[in-house]
Amino acid sequence: IDWTHGEGWHDAGLIPYGPIQMDPAAAVLHYAQEIFEGLKAYRHADGSVWSFRPEANAARLARSARRLALPELPEEDFLASIDLLVKTDQAWVPDHASGESSLYLRPFMYASESFLGVRPSKTVRYLLIASPVGPYFSGGVKPVSIWLSSTYTRAALGGTGAAKCGGNYAAGLAAQLEAEAHGCEQVCFLDAAEHRWVEELGGMNIYFVTKDGTLVTPTVSGTILEGITRSSILTLAGELGLKVEERPISIDEWRAGVASGEITEVFACGTAAVITPLGALAWEGGELEIPTGEVAMKIRQSLLDIQYGRAEDTHGWMRQLA
Ligand code: PMP
Repeated sequence: IDWTHGEGWHDAGLIPYGPIQMDPAAAVLHYAQEIFEGLKAYRHADGSVWSFRPEANAARLARSARRLALPELPEEDFLASIDLLVKTDQAWVPDHASGESSLYLRPFMYASESFLGVRPSKTVRYLLIASPVGPYFSGGVKPVSIWLSSTYTRAALGGTGAAKCGGNYAAGLAAQLEAEAHGCEQVCFLDAAEHRWVEELGGMNIYFVTKDGTLVTPTVSGTILEGITRSSILTLAGELGLKVEERPISIDEWRAGVASGEITEVFACGTAAVITPLGALAWEGGELEIPTGEVAMKIRQSLLDIQYGRAEDTHGWMRQLA
């Protein structure tokens, strides 16, 4: 679907997958005026195909659009693009019997106008592509190791941290390399102002389980991405009898809590991995083993059961596509 200043959205269509033409002066290539989303299509046992809370992705795309001075794509057009692609290519949605496999959907929008000045583009393109994905962990879920960067932060207040724009991820790549150089798999970012408050991982929100059965996750304060898995988990955890708290949590509370046994589990969540336990935390000059428990896996199972149609969708989260 294309957008032109003064004209709005027009020319929706389905085209075969392949390279797209882009002028070397296209604004997105220079100034990164670009946003995206990530969600999945799941096949249920009866062969039907469903998406999980796509309206929430449409709303987040609209919020990201406002922050990046891009036009908002109406929810109905966003949902229609998913319906059309999945209906047309439903053979690509993996079979139910394959367990945790799904069709990953990647909607994105970019500034397509050719000019070299810095201002919002007057032409924009929205595209949706898809790719089948298997389970995130091939050998079953295993705890990941986390690097706490003292060099890099992900987002400052007033910046783009709450938007899903490519630049946030580009800015995180050096931190990811730093993590790998220290033998860790993922980065945990702290806040930019005080370098003290836990924010999120490169592509996942974070949770702490305390020994009295409370689930704590950092408040959404403008510098972390408001995950759709994150809010779903807050709901499911309450139903599983956990107390749920959204509040700032400091790196000192994390380290002291693990050392004293007050924190019994730490896990991360996102569309791709669903829920992954964190098994170790390392930083310049130290490291800490993190215990793992059953809470993360219990919530993971109840979320997957809804997504794959094995449990009743009591929240109206699933939308049928085919
Ligand atoms: N934080 C970041 C930075 C992410 O990229 C993602 C993945 N979209 C998440 C959190 C989790 O969001 P969701 O649950 O909507 O996938």
